[in-house]
Amino acid sequence: MSDTVRPMSTGEDDGFGSSSLRANDADLADAAHLWKSAYVHIPFCAHRCPYCDFAIVDESVEANVDHRRYVDALVREIEMEDPFGPLDAVNFGGGTPSLLSSEQLGEIIEALRRRFGFRAHTEVSLEVNPEDWSTDTGGNLRSVGFTRVSIGAQSFDEQIMGVLSRRHSADATTEAVHSARVSGFRTISLDLIYGHPRETSASWAGSVDRALDLPIDHISTYALTVERGTALSREILAGATPPDGDVQAERYETFCERSSTAGFDRYEVSNHARPGHACVYNLSTWTHGEYLGFGLGAHDHRWGVRSRNHHRLDRYLEDVEAGIRPRLGTEHLDADSQDRDRFMLGLRLAAGTPASGFATTFLDSPEGTRLLDHGLIIVEGDRVVVTQPMLTDAVAREALSVSSYDC
Ligand code: SF4
Repeated sequence: MSDTVRPMSTGEDDGFGSSSLRANDADLADAAHLWKSAYVHIPFCAHRCPYCDFAIVDESVEANVDHRRYVDALVREIEMEDPFGPLDAVNFGGGTPSLLSSEQLGEIIEALRRRFGFRAHTEVSLEVNPEDWSTDTGGNLRSVGFTRVSIGAQSFDEQIMGVLSRRHSADATTEAVHSARVSGFRTISLDLIYGHPRETSASWAGSVDRALDLPIDHISTYALTVERGTALSREILAGATPPDGDVQAERYETFCERSSTAGFDRYEVSNHARPGHACVYNLSTWTHGEYLGFGLGAHDHRWGVRSRNHHRLDRYLEDVEAGIRPRLGTEHLDADSQDRDRFMLGLRLAAGTPASGFATTFLDSPEGTRLLDHGLIIVEGDRVVVTQPMLTDAVAREALSVSSYDC
C-alpha cells in the first residue's frame, strides 16, 4: 500500500495545488485509506423534500430553530474529542449547511483547525442549495476556508424540480456554478437525481448535458429511491407510479457515457471527477479510512471504534451542553470486522478493493465463485472490482452472507 500519495500535491498558486491523478487510480484509493477526515452535520432544511428521510430539522414546521445554539454545541463537541491528527478533509453535509452564515461555518472550521490541525492541502467542502447562493456567497465561503463546494442542482428540468419540491431554478444553479468558479474554489461539484417516474429520457439527457456544459470538476448522480415514511412513499402507497429500476439503469448508463466523453472518470458508483478532483472525504470513507463525526446523528470511525450521535436535537444539545459526548451507540470492531468492512465499502470504487484478507475468503466461497463465473466481479491484478456498478449492493449482500457464516 502506498502511503506517499497525498490527496493533492502542494500547489504553487492557491495553497491547495493540484494533482493529475485520475479519480479511479488504484494508488489513490489505497493511499486514501490512511487519510483522516471529519464530517460535520448541519441538520437544518427550509422544508423536507418528499423523497428525503435524513435526520433533519424541518424549519417549515419547527418553531424557533436556534442556529446559534447548535453552532455553539458543535464547537463544544469538537473540543471534547480526543487528539486525532491533522485532517486531510472536512465535509459539511446535511441537511442544508448553506442555511448557516459563513461566519458560523467559519467558527466551526476554526474549532476543527484548533483541535486537530489542517494540512496545507486540506479539502474543506460543503453542500449548498442554489437558492441560498447570492453574489457574496462564494467570496464569503472562500474567506472562511472552504476549498470545495457541492451544489445541489438535482435536475435542470423545471418540471422535475417541481415534483422533487426543489425551490430553485435551473438558471439559479447555472449562476451559482459560474459565481463559485470566479470565487476560486478548487473543486466545484454538482448533484443530480435521476429516475423519477415523470422524468423522460430526453429530460434526463437534457439535464446531464446542461450540467456537463458547466465549468465543474466533479458530479454525483443518485437514483431516486423510495424510503419508508417519506411523502413519496405515501404517494406510491396511494397509487402513484414507483420508480422503475430498469429505466434507472438506462439513465445511469446515459450519464456514464456522456460524462466519460466530457472527461470525467467514474471513481465510485455515484461519483465522477476530472483528474485531480476526486472528493478526498469520499475516497477516505469508502476506503474505510478514519473519520470523526460531529453533530446530530453523525457517525464516526476511528481506532477500531464506530460511534453514532443522538438523532434527536433536544438530546444532542442537552448532552453537549452538560459536557457529555452525545452518543447513541458505540461499537468496537475487531480486526476481522474492519477487514470485512473495508472490503464491502471498497466494492463501490471503480479501482476496486484489495484482493486480500476477507476478499480471499469471499472469492473462495460458493457465492464469490458464482459471481466470478457470471463476470459480476473480476480480479484485476491484486484488486477485486465489480463490473456492473449498479449491482454493487447485490454483490455486497452476497459478501455479507459469507461474512455471517464465516464469523
Ligand atoms: S434539502 Fe436535502 S437534506 Fe434537506 S430535505 Fe431536501 S433532500 Fe433532505
